[in-house]
Amino acid sequence: MRSTSLLLIVISLVACAPAKQTVDLVMHHGAVHTMNPAQPDAEALAVDAGRIVAIGTNDAIARAYVGKDTIDLQGQMVLPGFHDAHAHPAYDGVTLSQCNLVDLDSIDAIVAKVRACNDEQKDDGWLVGSGWNLALFPQANPSKALLDAVSTTRPILLAGADGHSSWANSKALDLAGVKRGTPNPEKGVIERDANGEPSGTLRETAQDLVRGVVPPVSADARREGLVKALQMANGFGITSIVEAAARPDLIEAYRSLEANGGLTARVVASIAISDPNDLAEANALIRPQDRATAARLRADSVKLFIDGVLEGETAALLQPYLDRPNWSGELKFKPAELNALVTELDRRGVQVHMHAIGDAAVREGLDAFAAARAANGPTDNRHHIAHLQLVDPADRPRFAELGVIANFQALWAFPDKYITDVNLAQVGQARVDQMYPIASLLHAGARIVGGSDWAISSMNPLLAIQTAITRSDPTGQIPGVLNAAERVSLAEMLAAYTINGAYLMHQEKDTGSLEVGKFADVIVLSRDLTKIPVEEIGAVAVTRTILEGATVYSK
Ligand SMILES: [Zn+2]
Repeated sequence: MRSTSLLLIVISLVACAPAKQTVDLVMHHGAVHTMNPAQPDAEALAVDAGRIVAIGTNDAIARAYVGKDTIDLQGQMVLPGFHDAHAHPAYDGVTLSQCNLVDLDSIDAIVAKVRACNDEQKDDGWLVGSGWNLALFPQANPSKALLDAVSTTRPILLAGADGHSSWANSKALDLAGVKRGTPNPEKGVIERDANGEPSGTLRETAQDLVRGVVPPVSADARREGLVKALQMANGFGITSIVEAAARPDLIEAYRSLEANGGLTARVVASIAISDPNDLAEANALIRPQDRATAARLRADSVKLFIDGVLEGETAALLQPYLDRPNWSGELKFKPAELNALVTELDRRGVQVHMHAIGDAAVREGLDAFAAARAANGPTDNRHHIAHLQLVDPADRPRFAELGVIANFQALWAFPDKYITDVNLAQVGQARVDQMYPIASLLHAGARIVGGSDWAISSMNPLLAIQTAITRSDPTGQIPGVLNAAERVSLAEMLAAYTINGAYLMHQEKDTGSLEVGKFADVIVLSRDLTKIPVEEIGAVAVTRTILEGATVYSK
């Protein structure tokens, strides 16, 4: 009798304590910032089959779940994975295997690096690289003689940091047939020395003369470059990316990674169309049916370049450039042509992603979205305009009215040398004082997202977030503030890089916040961004990146 009642008590105790559920992963003891307003903070997560099945306190998760794997977060900050809404990983990934001259701060350092690259990559025919700082050379005009001292037998071609100038040695110029009598191509300049010989520097379209004889990037190299770029993205906590100008060879690289399970980020590819006549070709790549599927790679977006850049005076302005009173830049599409193209894409359920730098380009883009809405009524395509260096105040409310998302590259929003040494003379202080109006658009009701435009700028979202908050150089090297009135908060920028980016990519049901049912795209940071001086945000490290429950990066 005695033993029977003891047994009953044991049985009833077991019955009262619910059995713990075994899941793939439990993460606990974290400072979890969920980006879900209904439950902003948590300590622990349970993850199964790639999705979050529970989120709450350490006790609540421990009571109900046991993980096959457990990660002790040791009090570190946890966020949803970052969304980079404008980058070029498939296009620029190859540069990570080439001669990287970024951030070298003397001519000697650059030449020494080229020499080292030449020694390391003996088997390759061409020596190709990029990222040299134009400002180090007199008239931004380096001589081929410096490269001939490295090699006269191997062709060398090095792109400048801004992409608008390249530097070649004599062998490369010979192979391209660029010589004394070669005329400048349209919209390009072959720089010449005092004797009239090509000096080695090529501007704008003149770069194509040499690029045209460099062997094309192979499919293998393209794919390997993309793998490296995605590793870099994961290292910065990026789990979702908009590929900002996709072409057939780039899509092929993505598809081959997707097929072998190597695609370590969610990707929306914006298929580039430079001319309405390209639409037929682009249609082979555009897939509106990808919308709202959980596929890692989706191609339900198109990229249109509305204008160029201020530095080259190709950005389209409402008022002329100060140094050329009859020149306001150029729109790449006629308004009627753009309206028709955007209306058709919108009708077909394709998202339109625009490049617009100048205020005339932004206005033309908004006008096209207005034309599409007039023709099609409201749609859920979540069109967006990237860069937004100048936006006329009259156009600011139109983003919210038209549901157009503002896609900022906030790392550009400080008084760097492009702005102080080039743009200021081109457009004057009044327009400089309106550049990158992040707060103005936010307060006018626009949804804000963030993108890197890598390889133009660092892919690190924390550098861009710090810059958006301070409007000053995140490295502390350049003094000054660009438009303090356009500062935004940490919370606003975290939203831009998480839930708003997810919305832009039509995946907010799956990513962008840490909630039950969403993918476990989770990052861990070395310091809590909410508890440190804003000037230190850019130096915080991501210590772990988890995509769909699997660690894709750990420091
Ligand atoms: Zn871009």
